[in-house]
Amino acid sequence: MRPQDILIPTPAGVCCKLGSFHIDPTRVVDRALITHGHSDHARAGHGAVLATPETLDLMRLRYGDNFAGATQAICYGESVQLDGARVTFHPAGHVLGSAQIAVEANGLRIVASGDYKNVADPTCAPFELVRCDVFITEATFGLPVFRHGDPDGEIAKLLHSVALFPERAHLIGAYSLGKAQRVIALIRQAGYDKPIYLHGALETTTRYYESRGLGLGELRSVRGAGKAELAGAIALCPPSALKELWSRRFPDPVTSFASGWMRVRARARQRGVELPLVVSDHADWDGLTATIAATGAAEVWVTHGQEDALVHWSVTRGLQARPLDIVGYGDEDETDGTIAGPAAHGEAETE
Ligand SMILES: [Zn+2]
Ligand SMILES: [Zn+2]
Repeated sequence: MRPQDILIPTPAGVCCKLGSFHIDPTRVVDRALITHGHSDHARAGHGAVLATPETLDLMRLRYGDNFAGATQAICYGESVQLDGARVTFHPAGHVLGSAQIAVEANGLRIVASGDYKNVADPTCAPFELVRCDVFITEATFGLPVFRHGDPDGEIAKLLHSVALFPERAHLIGAYSLGKAQRVIALIRQAGYDKPIYLHGALETTTRYYESRGLGLGELRSVRGAGKAELAGAIALCPPSALKELWSRRFPDPVTSFASGWMRVRARARQRGVELPLVVSDHADWDGLTATIAATGAAEVWVTHGQEDALVHWSVTRGLQARPLDIVGYGDEDETDGTIAGPAAHGEAETE
């Protein structure tokens, strides 16, 4: 059996004919396996959805109770047989509930990793290495220029600025699922214990993280807080809100943005970001290449992002490698926000 007899890339996403399912389909399908809750991977309207309990909850929060015809929860380490294929979910270390999906048939194992990172994150289970024959990897930061460095160093930079400008607010753009909660957790780890303020669009997801046992200290809504109260405070908002009227309630804010793209100075400048924070939910170049090597996979399929360099790197290592041309993964979490799902629109419009 060849890998493509188990999984084949289609325009709607990777498809398993043996098991009659798609992984992270970009179009509506009968049976979808979803790696994580970001809107470009987790869409509404499928006939049936299999995902971790957290991913199902996050989809419910975003799309409402009827986001799929039927749902089935699967925990990390659990396997289910779907017709001719066996699937197992493993932690991907990307956001709460994020999973890599291992698909096995006839002794061959393919791992679809969704989005992942192989560095510590207090807000989700750590990435688990799964040995496999074929590894499907993302390539959001698949260029050697992307090295994210130490997130604690970035948070130290932020807290230094807060100490330096006690009369100014610090307004941090961070995507609502994963990034915002991780930034808050990192700020708390660094010892900052004052209230942290939240834009309304970040509240639901953040409260959900708290309900799953993540302690984030005292969080307050920006809504209702006066200008005087916000002086010297740290507040988080969706990146789009940094430039909106909404941000004018802050006294002389220092604008900040937490993203792997902040490694690119020009991008920070172009967005008018005064204090770029390189904090990413994705593996950087070293993380991608180290992970590919460690899986032991002889074949690599590369999707969404900078495929070419990673394919080239794999080939020079003697691996078979190909890009998967799937349209529709744009990542609400790491793009400039130009690809906006329904939720991203919602974020921009609500408080
Ligand atoms: Zn993602
Ligand atoms: Zn993605």
